[in-house]
Amino acid sequence: MQKVAVLKAQGNFQKTIAEAVEKAGAANIISKGDLVLLKPNLHGSVGITDLSVLEAIARWIWDCGAREIIIGDGPFYGIVNEREHFEKIGIMGIAKKVNAQCVAFDEHDFRIFHNASRYLPDELGITRFAYDCDKMINAPIMKTHFNTLVTLGMKNLKGCIRKREKRIFHQMNLDRAIVELNRLLQSDLTIMDATWAMEGMGPAGGAWVDMGLVLASMDVVAIDSVCCHLMGIDPDEVMTLRFAQRTGLGETDINKIKIVGENLDEHKRHFERPIDSMTRQYPQLNLSNEGACSGCNMNLFAALRGLKLRGVEFVWDEIVMGNSKPMSADALLIGACTASLRKEYAYLPGCPPDVEAIRKRLVNRVG
Ligand code: SF4
Repeated sequence: MQKVAVLKAQGNFQKTIAEAVEKAGAANIISKGDLVLLKPNLHGSVGITDLSVLEAIARWIWDCGAREIIIGDGPFYGIVNEREHFEKIGIMGIAKKVNAQCVAFDEHDFRIFHNASRYLPDELGITRFAYDCDKMINAPIMKTHFNTLVTLGMKNLKGCIRKREKRIFHQMNLDRAIVELNRLLQSDLTIMDATWAMEGMGPAGGAWVDMGLVLASMDVVAIDSVCCHLMGIDPDEVMTLRFAQRTGLGETDINKIKIVGENLDEHKRHFERPIDSMTRQYPQLNLSNEGACSGCNMNLFAALRGLKLRGVEFVWDEIVMGNSKPMSADALLIGACTASLRKEYAYLPGCPPDVEAIRKRLVNRVG
């Protein structure tokens, strides 16, 4: 039976991490002299793995006798300069403090897989760090997500793939592609940052929820399922977990997972779903974003938030991104993916267009 440890994150984080890992049956997971890859969620500017949790994990890894720690991620499609992004969000400073190397995967080599699955791009690059390390620790944050309902351990591994395939994932069956990626790439341990989680329009535009928890497990499907339970979401509603269960990748039935530590029901919440949050905040928004990646989605939501704060209404009947087709004549196409229709509709170029450009175009019929 797979084990998931759930602990209150209070006092000394490093002690809590060590205790959670021990309760998850993974106390000896790091061997003396290991090169350890620590893969947090450093996806954007908001909604990243808490830096104090990361620092505590890194210190725990050193205590286990590791030889070297590499902290790495490949941020979302809209981030052009990863190094600058890492500097801005503070991870470079943390890496320096804990004597770890900080890498942006896109600046390094990838292991290339050809035709690994019909649910994956024909050619898929996965960071070499994930295969060259002795141990890999996945350190996601608990959040809702507008494409996949939740982003937890399984989804966090998408940060390990090459930038161009990130976009292709969104044009395929994203949930299924994530499951197949988790067959090609498995971490040795997942430590979930559920100190502050995000509900609503995650992964970057939602509201913070004070959960005050840290979870650990050697089984990513089990830990994701337990997180869903804590978020008040049935794992069967989450397509990545549904596919994972049905294709034998892991167990999502909470009754078949051994929970150690806190009583789940005492911490269970009802996270607002992204779609409920969007219709509550923007009831007049008619958005077609099938196949759009996080670049356009996150920048659009940031632009909408900016307008809402200023009390300004957008003027379009419909907003179209990704590979969606407009349903209305009064549609604004956003992003290079929609360029084939640019002669017929209002069009904003960019991949993705920046937040300010979207904000301006949302309130102006003339570009
Ligand atoms: S245009 Fe937008 S949706 Fe298309 S790949 Fe670029 S960022 Fe993603």
